[in-house]
Amino acid sequence: MKILILGGIKEAANLASKLVNEGHDVTSSLAGRTKEPKPLEGKIRIGGFGGAEGLATYLKENQIDLLIDCTHPFAKQISTNAVAASKLANVKLEIHTRQPWQKHENDNWIEVQNLEKARDAIPKQACVLLALGRQYIDLFKAREDVFYLVRMVDQPEQKLPLPEYKLLIGKPSSNWHEEKAVLEKNNITHIICRNSGGTGAYAKIEAARNLKIPVIIVSQ
Ligand code: NAP
Repeated sequence: MKILILGGIKEAANLASKLVNEGHDVTSSLAGRTKEPKPLEGKIRIGGFGGAEGLATYLKENQIDLLIDCTHPFAKQISTNAVAASKLANVKLEIHTRQPWQKHENDNWIEVQNLEKARDAIPKQACVLLALGRQYIDLFKAREDVFYLVRMVDQPEQKLPLPEYKLLIGKPSSNWHEEKAVLEKNNITHIICRNSGGTGAYAKIEAARNLKIPVIIVSQ
């Protein structure tokens, strides 16, 4: 089959590899947010399609038999587009949804619905690990009393619009002892993240549990 995977997460890379090994003609689509994406099995295309209609046109022009949405649970727009495009182009859609993390009895989670509420839930003078992409940072500038440790995959091109911060460039470790060391070294009092599910970013949750650090977490 000719398959288009809307990807950008580890599970999508694993799926591409599995489907290629089964003999399918697989193309993975990435939005282009990461400067140097990891190599993937099969073909890769990068960049937006131009909405649902653009995606439908791509499906038809490339004679795709199956569209698979294996995007991040917070990438809601592309998932909405995938549903519409599959109808417009009459191409079957498979949705691979990642489940959110479940709260452990020893977790100290402050669960909020969005990032604005996460920002407002930070106590005064806190020292926060901000584990969010660049596009979500701006609204945290309103909290001039807070020190941020900002973790990002790529070095930002410009200074961040935050009053006081330190950058931590790179992906999170999957080893909670390493995440614990980062939290301790930087005197982190709170973590802000989204409940993304998956294994790649979970170690910070385990580290916070161990250190009894509150996690202000945005629900899916
Ligand atoms: P989004 O808000 O749902 O998408 C915004 C626009 O970006 C879409 O309308 C689409 O543009 C384009 N786009 C998104 N995903 C695409 C893909 N896989 N291939 C081609 N175009 C794509 O998505 P997002 O939250 O910015 O996430 C973008 C990508 O990063 C996704 O592939 C997602 O799996 C990955 N990712 C996201 C997060 C996160 O926290 N949101 C975390 C890790 C990885 P057009 O309308 O022009 O087609």
